[in-house]
Amino acid sequence: MEKSENKDIQSQEEIKQEYIYLTKQTLKKLHKTYNKLYFEGKLHRADFGYLYDFNDKDTYGVYIGRRSRKDKTPLIKINHDNKWTEESLRFTLIHEMIHQYIYECMGGCLRPHGRKFKKVCKIFKEKYGIIIEKYFPKKYIIK
Ligand SMILES: [Zn+2]
Repeated sequence: MEKSENKDIQSQEEIKQEYIYLTKQTLKKLHKTYNKLYFEGKLHRADFGYLYDFNDKDTYGVYIGRRSRKDKTPLIKINHDNKWTEESLRFTLIHEMIHQYIYECMGGCLRPHGRKFKKVCKIFKEKYGIIIEKYFPKKYIIK
């Protein structure tokens, strides 16, 4: 009994290690990397924040282009209650960065997941083999 319990705890810890613990520092670093790799370094530096399930249920990422008249630094918020892997975090961050790219470099848009969004997603698939979609894939939801 004791033995198997220990084993369970151990295997849970092993799984845990594959998840990325979400910090603003990590997001900042990834944003910088992806900006260079996929957006020719054209995106502005962003600030980062968190979303929590108790008031933003089923929202995994948000991009806010202009927080106020004074503050023009974009804000990207990522759900802190989900367990992130390298792949799911990349998907989410690039998704929000595409919104940022459309706002900053393509003259904005009326519909957030409209024609321009689809166009950039197509480029990601063709050029980098990275699939970015409008919806957060169910397989990335790990609580
Ligand atoms: Zn979106």
